[in-house]
Amino acid sequence: MQSSDLPNADTTRIADLRSDGLRPAGLRPAVFLDRDGTINEEVGYIHDPLDLNLIPGAAAAIRELNAKGVMAILVTNQSGPARGFYPESHLDTLNNRLNHLLEEEGAFLDDLYYCPHLPDGTVSAYTMVCDCRKPGTKMVQLATEKHGIDLSRSYVVGDKATDVELGQNAGCRTVLLTSGYGQRVLDGAYQWQVTPDHVAATLQEAVSWIMADMAARV
Ligand SMILES: [Mg+2]
Ligand SMILES: [Zn+2]
Repeated sequence: MQSSDLPNADTTRIADLRSDGLRPAGLRPAVFLDRDGTINEEVGYIHDPLDLNLIPGAAAAIRELNAKGVMAILVTNQSGPARGFYPESHLDTLNNRLNHLLEEEGAFLDDLYYCPHLPDGTVSAYTMVCDCRKPGTKMVQLATEKHGIDLSRSYVVGDKATDVELGQNAGCRTVLLTSGYGQRVLDGAYQWQVTPDHVAATLQEAVSWIMADMAARV
């Protein structure tokens, strides 16, 4: 009977909370990853899926997160649909290729979020001020609610000032990569200058720093 199952489920949840003391049960750290210039080579708007190619070592870095039980979650601004470059379904095609390339190297993303919007787009359906376009935090908030993530133990890695600001807005630590646009951000030649917690040349170096930083905080 359903009516007798429900109270049992509630009792189990309360027991889990008590066994963990004051900290909510089961909250996990995550690394929120940008896509272009962070996992795959920055080549501008990608029309041909075959132009999406991994930066060497990126899959190994994500594989290390997978092995350590740290969630790897993609959060990416993709304004191509808002600019009329391609339909939103094209983003699924690109995501499928990314997942396939990672799978070939034994790595996987725990989840994937994209923002297709732009305040000054040309396609009305996607032209809006939204809460998900980085440095807005909605993609991170959705992932946090779905997966039970502890943002104070989590990290954002990307190559733009907007990635660093996303992490700061969400209460995470931040790593700016010098790949993609990152060196130009550091030089003050792209977007605006930011103060990440760490600067790394590659995602592999970023993950090495993150794992050491995590261990030092426990
Ligand atoms: Mg990027
Ligand atoms: Zn959006």
